Amino acid sequence: MLGCSLYPIVNNDKMKKIIKKTSPKPIKVDKAPKVDKISKTVKNTDNSDIIKTKSTVPSKTIFQKISDQRKNAIEDVVKELVNEEAIPIVLYLIGRTKVSEFVLAQDLNLEIHKARNLLYRLLEHNVLYFHRKKDKIKGWYICYWDFNEKIIPFQLEKIKSQKLVKLKERLEKESSSMFYMCKSACTRMDFEKSMEFNFKCPECGELMDEQNNSRTLEFLKERITELDKDLKAYDK
Ligand SMILES: [Zn+2]
Repeated sequence: MLGCSLYPIVNNDKMKKIIKKTSPKPIKVDKAPKVDKISKTVKNTDNSDIIKTKSTVPSKTIFQKISDQRKNAIEDVVKELVNEEAIPIVLYLIGRTKVSEFVLAQDLNLEIHKARNLLYRLLEHNVLYFHRKKDKIKGWYICYWDFNEKIIPFQLEKIKSQKLVKLKERLEKESSSMFYMCKSACTRMDFEKSMEFNFKCPECGELMDEQNNSRTLEFLKERITELDKDLKAYDK
C-alpha cells in the first residue's frame, strides 16, 4: 500500500533495541501503536483555541456544522466514488488539519484497517491527501490526513455529466421502442426481445402486456432538465 505501514521500517534487531530503551516491558515488534495512548490535538471550529483531549469515548460534537448544500455535495460525491461508509471520515476532517489516522479511527469508532481502507479509497479520487511522518522512537510511519474540499465541485460536475449521458441514452431507448411487461412483474423487455420469447414471460410463462411507459418518459425528462440546470450553474 502507498506510503504508510503499520510495521516498523527498521529491522527487527534494531527495533528490539529501541523497544528495550523505550519501554519497560517487551512488546511485540509487529504491533501497531496503541490508539488509546495517542493524544490528539483538535482545532476548534472557530480556530480560537486548541483542545487537547485523551478521551476514549467519541464526542458528540466531532462533526463541524456545515450548510446542507455543502454537506449534500460532499455526501453525493463520496457515496458515488467510494461508498456511504466513507462519508463520516470526510465530514470528520472538515475544520481539522493533519489528522492522525489513529485519532480518526478512534473518534469514528472504526477499526484501523477499515479506516485505512476507506482513507486510501478516498485518496485515489483525490478527495483526501496526506502527510507521512516517521515516529522517531518506534520507527514506523503515521499518516496525517486532510480533506481536499476544492475537488468536490469538480467531482460533482463529473458525476452529474455522466448521469446525464446515461439518462439521455435511457430516454432514447424508452422513446424508440414499445415495452412489454409480465403481469406478475417478473420481467420487462423491449419489443424485439419480447418477440424472441413470443411475448411470454421467460420467468413464469405468463403472457406479457404492452406497457405504457409515459410515466417513465416523463420521469426521465424531468431528471434530465434538472441535471441540465444543475450543470449550467457550474458554467457560470
Ligand atoms: Zn412472469
